[in-house]
Order: sequence, then structure tokens, then C-alpha cells
Amino acid sequence: MNEPFAKVGNICEIKAYAKINLGLDVVGVLPNGYHEVRMIMQTVGIWDLLTFEKIPRGIVITTDSGELPTNEDNLIYRAAALLMERYRISQGVRIHLQKNIPIAAGMAGGSSDAAATLKGVNGLFGLGCSLEELKELGVKIGADVPYCVMGGTALAEGIGEKLTALAPAPRCHLLVAKPDINVSTRYVYEHLDARKSYEHPDIDGMVQAIEEGRLEGILERMGNVLESVTVPAYPIINTLKMRMKELGAAGSMMSGSGPTVFGIFTEEETAERAFVKLKEEKLAKQVFLTGFQN
Ligand code: ATP
Repeated sequence: MNEPFAKVGNICEIKAYAKINLGLDVVGVLPNGYHEVRMIMQTVGIWDLLTFEKIPRGIVITTDSGELPTNEDNLIYRAAALLMERYRISQGVRIHLQKNIPIAAGMAGGSSDAAATLKGVNGLFGLGCSLEELKELGVKIGADVPYCVMGGTALAEGIGEKLTALAPAPRCHLLVAKPDINVSTRYVYEHLDARKSYEHPDIDGMVQAIEEGRLEGILERMGNVLESVTVPAYPIINTLKMRMKELGAAGSMMSGSGPTVFGIFTEEETAERAFVKLKEEKLAKQVFLTGFQN
């Protein structure tokens, strides 16, 4: 993936992109309680901006978001500490986070910030770590972090850390809407386990459609098993999915454990009209018009 990275003197800036899942299947539960997944991951054009600056010592986080911790509970802190301890960096770093990605939304915002931090600290202190090394470190912070280090279109298996890069998904227009509700990831997985049986999306078929560059084949196979829990519990998710379809989306689905819903449009004008309409209707707190970022 083409990563914008700018280093001027002792300051560097890096964009942390959000992801959506074009397909999400749960295929088992591991002995340690983690869920075994098969997911099609896709980076989208919504990003946080992180700025890194050397300071004499410590890790200092500032952010324009009033909702996030700035202490060691922030994944940015954990990523910086992990890398700096491993390489025994005696200096410190100040990291400013400009937050645009919806929080607790199923868009891996925190994981992406952590991945960007690994890259930013690596670049700022000239540590010379390869992307592979950063991915290996990233999984200690969260299962989605290795994918966020890599970005683009990918198949994620295991707990999400076993990654296969795929051909860039075909160009399209994307409407992303985060309703004003909070969905607990733990609640979703626990209720899915209790269900025992559910319909599995055709992830292998989607991989093939992506490799063949067929948007139609992707649209036909879009599916997220977690919707079987969230849709009955949070009707707004289905309302948004349906509304996007009425407004011309060729496909719509919930991302990750939700509650963010996205719609795929083939025509730019239709997507723009739908964007304006959805914002007017105030069904969602945050609405974005964007595309895939490969
Ligand atoms: P995923 O798609 O991986 O499930 P998500 O989009 O649902 O992630 P995040 O936005 O990554 O959820 O945040 C989940 C929780 O992590 C939040 O409750 C938040 O307080 C915490 N958190 C810690 N650091 C960050 C960060 N830098 N950005 C966002 N959330 C963070």
C-alpha cells in the first residue's frame, strides 16, 4: 500500500487508515477463547493523522478527541512503549493524534493507530525494522494490528494475524455510516457462540472474485456472521443497510462487530446523492463518502 510518510527534521507524520470487512466468518473458537476467523479486509479512505516528535524522555500523547485516554490505555502508547523498550531508546516521543475514524465502530481505528505508531517510531528513531518485524510486534497489541501494518486488500485468518495479500479490490464508491450507538465486541461474540449454527459467507469465492477483479462477484458474496447478533439487537443497523440500498447501493453490510454500516456504489453521482440524503436524514452520527485505499 502506498503509505504517505513525511519526515521533516525531528518530526514525522503518518496516516492511519480505517478498514472495513467485505466478508467476515467465524469458523471456530480456540482453546484460549479467541475466535478463529476468516475475513476479507479492505483499507478505506478514512484516516487519523499521527504526528511524532522526539522529546528528551517519556511517551506523551495528545489528541483532539475528547473520548480517548492519553495514558497507557491508548493503543498508541502501548505500541510506542513496546518498540522503544525493545530497542532501548533512551529518548522520548510526543505523539499527537488527530482522530477522524469513528471510535469503537468495527473499523479498527485503535489498531490502525497502533500500526501507524510502530511505523512512526521506527522511522523517527531510524530503527530499520522491516514490515514483517512490525507485524510480529503488532500482534502483541491486537489481532488486527498486523493487518493494519500491511493495509490494502487481504484475507485474514487465525485470530486475524495470518495474512494473505490479495489483488487490490476493484474501484467503487463507498458510503460509510456510524450510528450513534455503542456495540460491545464481547457481547457480539458471546451471543454468536450461544447461537452455535449460522450461515457462513463464501470467503473463498470472494477471494477468487477479488483476484479476478469482479466487483459483481464480491457484491454477491458480501456477508458478516456477526450481523446475526447485532441486527436483531440494534434495529438501526438494518435500517441503515436498507436505506443505503434504497438510495442505490449495490450492496450494504455491517463492518466488523459493528455498528458501522457501509454501502458499495458503482456510480459516483448516485453515491454523492445518497451521501447528502443520509446526512440530511440524521440516521447516523457520522457519514463519510470515500472509496477503497489500495
Ligand atoms: P475493531 O474493528 O478492531 O474491533 P473498533 O473500531 O471496534 O476496532 P476502536 O476504535 O479501535 O474499536 O476502539 C476500541 C476501544 O479501544 C475504544 O473503547 C477505545 O477507548 C480504546 N482505544 C485505545 N486506544 C485507542 C485509539 N488510539 N483509538 C481508538 N480507540 C482506542
